[in-house]
Amino acid sequence: MSSSETIKIPAELLPGDGRFGSGPSKIRMEQLHALVADGTTYMGTSHRQATVRHKVGEVREGLRALFNLPEGYEVLLGNGGTTCFWDAATFHLISRHSQHLSFGEFSSKFAAAVKAAPHLCDPQVIESPVGTHPLAVVEEDVDLYALTHNETSTGVMMEIQRPVGATGLVAVDATSGAGGLMVDPTQFDCYYFAPQKSFASDGGLWLALCSPAAIERIETLAASDRWTPASLDLKIALDNSRLNQTYNTPALATIHMLASQIKWMNDNGGLSFSSGRSRQSAEILYTWAEASDFATPFVNNPAHRSNVVGTIDFRPDIDATLIAKILRANGVVDTDPYRKLGRNQLRIAMFPSIDPEDVASLLACVNYVVGHL
Ligand SMILES: *Cc1c(COP(=O)(O)O)cnc(C)c1O
Repeated sequence: MSSSETIKIPAELLPGDGRFGSGPSKIRMEQLHALVADGTTYMGTSHRQATVRHKVGEVREGLRALFNLPEGYEVLLGNGGTTCFWDAATFHLISRHSQHLSFGEFSSKFAAAVKAAPHLCDPQVIESPVGTHPLAVVEEDVDLYALTHNETSTGVMMEIQRPVGATGLVAVDATSGAGGLMVDPTQFDCYYFAPQKSFASDGGLWLALCSPAAIERIETLAASDRWTPASLDLKIALDNSRLNQTYNTPALATIHMLASQIKWMNDNGGLSFSSGRSRQSAEILYTWAEASDFATPFVNNPAHRSNVVGTIDFRPDIDATLIAKILRANGVVDTDPYRKLGRNQLRIAMFPSIDPEDVASLLACVNYVVGHL
């Protein structure tokens, strides 16, 4: 190890919690303690019995309240995380032809899944350079518009708005945005996510807030002659969700920690509280970067700079990877850049669980490290 890699950051500069990863992300100790407290009555019990089903019901009701869902919207859940939900969507959410806004790794993946599906038309993909986002273009034969609330690979967020005049469904990948960004539920038909980001739980589950139009689409396609694997069948997921169950066995700890996080958000004022924490962290981060002589926000347009995942470029003579390594050696972890983006940058999660003061401390640590390189 070179001497710079052994830089010891003074304890008084360190954040109270050193987890800044974009997923799996920081889980609050209160959530872990609550899980342990229910250890012998909840963990290791049947997911078909009242205890666990009650917890699933708490999650569904809690999300309904958090997002202020209009009458008729339903909360669906199933196993496999967002990636499996994309596959399920190719069976039961897209009739024939979808349009995808592609502006990073995650948004491009759903388009790729659709392109590979032999029963669907090739998707229409609208791209924009990394660090920006494209806009939907209303087309008559598009039956689903695939948007992404926050592109986790680049740190770009976009406002969720139903394209004016669109007749197709609006489906939003909100995996990293949900809970950390404001959203108006009348602007989407399906807002789906996994719990390992703003909801501070573990991966492996998907959740989808569905409008009556999305439910109708699921029912219509499930009744059609399209072959669908049962584990990706959204009608089966719908029927099970209505009973506060999943089709096959879920991870019970994931559901428990998710329920705790939703309750924490709702008890403190709901989405304006949780997204407010992320907004506060983001203000601290981007204000620092704009004032710094060695760091700049990667995203040019301030309105597109994410409140939940910040990407910061570093001057070429300062190796961001080395900074991330030194931070890690000091217990401040997962600030590494998204590898495929290939930039000299740090990526910093600012999900609601992360204390804004800890973001400020992290930046003091970065200043310290850069000053001692
Ligand atoms: C993390 C992430 C995914 C992938 O989620 P999995 O649960 O791992 O499948 C998809 N989309 C976005 C925007 C993400 O941030």
